[in-house]
Amino acid sequence: MSEVERHSYDVVVIGAGGAGLRAAIEARARGLRTAVVCKSLFGKAHTVMAEGGIAASMGNVNSQDGWKVHFRDTMRGGKFLNNWRMAELHAKEAPDRVWELESWGALFDRTADGRISQRNFGGHEYPRLAHVGDRTGLELIRTLQQRIVALQQEDEREFGDPEARLRVFQECTITRLLTVPDAGSEAGNRIAGAFGYWRESGRFTVFDAPAVVLATGGIGKGFKVTSNSWEYTGDGQALALLAGAPLINMEFVQFHPTGMVWPPSVKGILVTESVRGDGGVLLNSEGERFMFDYIPDVFKEKYARTKEEGDRWYTDQENNRRPPELLPRDEVARAINSEVKAGRGSPHGGVFLTVVDRMAGGTEEIRRKLPSMYHQFKELADVDITAEAMEVGPTCHYVMGGIAVDPDTAATPGVLGLYAAGEVAGGMHGSNRLGGNSLSDLLVFGRRAGEHAARYAEEIGEARREAAQEQLDAAEAEALAPFAVESAENPYTVHQELQQTMNDLVGIIRREGEMAEALTRLDELKARAAKAGVEGHRQYNPGWHLALDLRNMLLVCECVARSALERRESRGGHTRDDYPAMSAEWRRVVLACSIVDPDAQTLSVRLTRSEAVPMRADLLELFERDELTKYLTDAELPGKDG
Ligand code: FAD
Repeated sequence: MSEVERHSYDVVVIGAGGAGLRAAIEARARGLRTAVVCKSLFGKAHTVMAEGGIAASMGNVNSQDGWKVHFRDTMRGGKFLNNWRMAELHAKEAPDRVWELESWGALFDRTADGRISQRNFGGHEYPRLAHVGDRTGLELIRTLQQRIVALQQEDEREFGDPEARLRVFQECTITRLLTVPDAGSEAGNRIAGAFGYWRESGRFTVFDAPAVVLATGGIGKGFKVTSNSWEYTGDGQALALLAGAPLINMEFVQFHPTGMVWPPSVKGILVTESVRGDGGVLLNSEGERFMFDYIPDVFKEKYARTKEEGDRWYTDQENNRRPPELLPRDEVARAINSEVKAGRGSPHGGVFLTVVDRMAGGTEEIRRKLPSMYHQFKELADVDITAEAMEVGPTCHYVMGGIAVDPDTAATPGVLGLYAAGEVAGGMHGSNRLGGNSLSDLLVFGRRAGEHAARYAEEIGEARREAAQEQLDAAEAEALAPFAVESAENPYTVHQELQQTMNDLVGIIRREGEMAEALTRLDELKARAAKAGVEGHRQYNPGWHLALDLRNMLLVCECVARSALERRESRGGHTRDDYPAMSAEWRRVVLACSIVDPDAQTLSVRLTRSEAVPMRADLLELFERDELTKYLTDAELPGKDG
């Protein structure tokens, strides 16, 4: 192996979105030497793109809100498949995480009496999303970055070096986790660090560390129409798999109901749910508010049955039920899909979303509440949303499945010293995430991951070891392989075909035959990706970067397709045309994916089933028995007269 740059830390956090930064702040606050490594520029992460807000039951706008209501909404949104302990911790701790942000300098929008304002969002019973216009993620990242700078200033004063205990490495892609054998762990190994390359120079680098926190976000780039940007190639999920940590519930992919559908160059870009939270309605080509026809039985009692009641709810939530445009995302996405299929779509294959005449303050209020949406449509589609309807349709947005983690510590069960938080981790959101619950998830579990990674690194102390040279050599050889192949495949072509396959065959509505065909195509694409070659040198070579990302996308997409084929029911983000009903038996099943042989030439995924841990009795008591019967098996229901 060539001479390689080496860094040594106690905790290495991979990913600089909300989860990664919150984890890094926690590890450093505990006095440990911490590195943050990110693939893109520091500050450029999905978190920054989050628009609507952070869900936390502070009760500022409706004092009836509290953690129990938030917990219930989250479980209902996820159709009871959620890891209930994560949902409980999340609901309890989210308000503290928002207060903490404020104490670190975040400037949230205010209520008339000066408290942090909270807005309505799909699936949340009360106004719950703390927000900054429609640019909440930007404020969240700005605040966390500011906190990092404050900690670095402390270190400057104490050690004369601002990066003594917290350093950010940007534009560095990690391609492998490094491990050492450990008989005490499930997978037989523990973390020793991470291997990656600098995107600009193409040079390799090694981070030696006993604890790694994965916070790399989503997988959207495996699909053709997506709100995700270029970094989201499932890297963290694949890194965990390759190190021996399983992924769970990968069949649950969220298709956000409202992405732009026109012009083609911006297809998939997100149209925030706050448009509907602030009064926007969905119309078909016949001008009908069609969502009233799509309220599923499980939600019938909670949603308005007439337009009048739905409209009254915006000003009087005590005496009216919410409009069905605010159903959980999976329901709205399926409804739009059905309208388009029935020939009632908009000219470019979506439906209409309008805020015109829907806000008392007219044009001015629209521009104040939805500044980014106003500019997005004006600049990208030449549509003035204060005067015209938007055209929108489903877009692949978020993955509910992810790395299996312990709910309290964020530790992965497979590999000692490996932690995961944020979108890359699975369990919290069950089969469907509620809007706003991601930003709060990042802060709650980012903090927990940072804390427990730091504790582990402290405990391991002198027993920490570096990875064997052969592992570094293998990681380098793997990364250089695209320069060595003859009669090369074009990585861009393989990527396009992968995206088309996932969109067409494992998309919003799924069928057995199509998913089986997807798996055959994925096998072929795997063989072609192994021959994906690039020309030129290693200095900023995007073709090479994509060739390396293909391994991750193919692995993760195989997990999605295999799990989706296996789960014979429809629930949340997983809709089977051939199994349209939700099954109480299947709710108890956790599907886990692991790699058969991480050192094999061709990697393949193994699927196993395990049983979900039954919900604690005191949490079950938060629901009416009638509601529980819609989700749980008879055996799981609390006592007959309970
Ligand atoms: P991210 O913020 O996605 O950050 C991932 C980090 O990992 C990045 O720094 C990236 O460079 C790095 N990385 C990835 N791979 C590697 C690698 N191999 N090596 C090194 N670094 C790597 N949620 C809400 O709750 N409310 C909202 O209003 C909302 N709006 C959204 C709007 C849009 C357009 C999108 C796309 C998402 C939105 N979401 C929202 C979802 C939410 O933003 C994301 O789920 C969340 O930000 C994910 O945060 P994270 O910290 O897990 O990862």
